Amino acid sequence: MFETVIGLEVHVQLNTQTKLFCSCATSFNVTQNSNTCPTCLALPGALPVLNKEVLHKAIMFGTAVDARVNRTSYFDRKSYFYPDSPSAYQITQLYTPVVEDGILSIDFEDGSSKQIRINRAHIEADAGKNIHEGSVSKVDLNRAGTPLLEIVSEPDMRSADEAILYLKKLHSIVRYLEISDANMQEGSFRCDVNVSIRPKGDEKLYTRVEIKNINSFRFIEKAIELEVARQKDAWEDGKYDVEILQETRLFDQNKQETRSMRGKEGAADYRYFPEPDLLPAMISEEMYAQFCQIPELPDQKRERFIRDYEMSVYNAIVLTSSLETAHFFEAMMSEGISAKNAVVWLTVELQGRLKGGISIENSPIDAKKMGMLVKRIEDQTISAKAAKEVLDYLLGNESDVDNAIENLGLKQVTDMGAIEKICDEIIAANQDKAAEYRSGKDKLFGFFVGQVMKESKGTASPQAVNEVLKAKLG
Ligand code: ADP
Ligand code: MG
Ligand code: ZN
Repeated sequence: MFETVIGLEVHVQLNTQTKLFCSCATSFNVTQNSNTCPTCLALPGALPVLNKEVLHKAIMFGTAVDARVNRTSYFDRKSYFYPDSPSAYQITQLYTPVVEDGILSIDFEDGSSKQIRINRAHIEADAGKNIHEGSVSKVDLNRAGTPLLEIVSEPDMRSADEAILYLKKLHSIVRYLEISDANMQEGSFRCDVNVSIRPKGDEKLYTRVEIKNINSFRFIEKAIELEVARQKDAWEDGKYDVEILQETRLFDQNKQETRSMRGKEGAADYRYFPEPDLLPAMISEEMYAQFCQIPELPDQKRERFIRDYEMSVYNAIVLTSSLETAHFFEAMMSEGISAKNAVVWLTVELQGRLKGGISIENSPIDAKKMGMLVKRIEDQTISAKAAKEVLDYLLGNESDVDNAIENLGLKQVTDMGAIEKICDEIIAANQDKAAEYRSGKDKLFGFFVGQVMKESKGTASPQAVNEVLKAKLG
């Protein structure tokens, strides 16, 4: 029996206005190489200066994962040649990073949880981008020198499932802290997956394979499964020692395989040494007190939702896993509606209709409108069934809730006089059935309700119809 061992390295691009060591803007959807200066172009003589905002964001993260924030941390040079890095080295933090020894807890569906240790989070500079167009390759340095926070876990995950839970939690934490856009497709949240296997019960760590830069949770899950299967097969065929090497592999989504990209460099290959152009990053107590202030985190929000709105753990997790969903829910609640209805109308009715990757922040119906829609059910202006029609209408039309109800003619009739009149007509037209009902054929009650609802074109309040029919049929 084997056990899977996974450790993750996540590169989070910090959303500062300017780059890590110069004052160039961090927006890179602009003309190629326009956000550059002597420092990020690595021209001789240009010196780096640390952006304080980067330190601020790193400290917020450290605080969020209960880590130690080193009051003095240092920068190091990691040498390697690649066309998108004009200096031929990357400035990073190897020996003493700003954040060390954190904890992140992941939550399983059965309500249990597990603590994953975070080894460190260090600050480093991103490289530029190589762009390949046919036979021509170009270099764009707009991204060169933008700040990254690399978050390194201990090898504490035991399945693809746990790895995904860890990544989703980490993603949601950086989004809650608003320190990164954390957009996987755009590359502001990038993940390297380290995978090994070992016989169950064995404490030793076996050879790890690193799979680089996979840009969706689904692909990460798939890449881990494929890699674990490859390693197990090799073990069972007696080829583990020759086939499983410490190397960097790529996940090929078309071929559904991982394949070797290069042998894994050791630290010595990078010729690490202390960065001579930068002073240590020193954090005074005063600065720390200011930078460690963080907003409510996903776990705290979840606990608060469970407590204040008496909702299930499951619903609380669904609502708080994304900051946008949590905000949407809270904005709906400010219409004074019940949490139970808000949850259903947000997560089932609205999100069920927002297909094709439309996320809640791009919903054509805002939270206030959704809150109002639920409110109109609760104050019996419309039935729940009619509300679904209103929702469909609102998805395709610019309208407020009350106008939509008016336009669709769905206003519920709660006027007892009007309902009694319809009930009388229906009973008069179905004397035989009324007699059958009275002599004990209870099932016919549904028939009468149906007829009245139909006659009212679905606008009669079902509650009122029930009451009136009960009274009239005896
Ligand atoms: P590097 O930066 O060279 O990739 P690190 O020592 O920083 O190396 O480790 C990278 C990641 O690999 C960490 O997340 C760590 O938990 C994980 N890791 C280390 N050994 C193993 C192993 N045997 N199996 C799975 N993951 C591992
Ligand atoms: Mg690595
Ligand atoms: Zn610059």
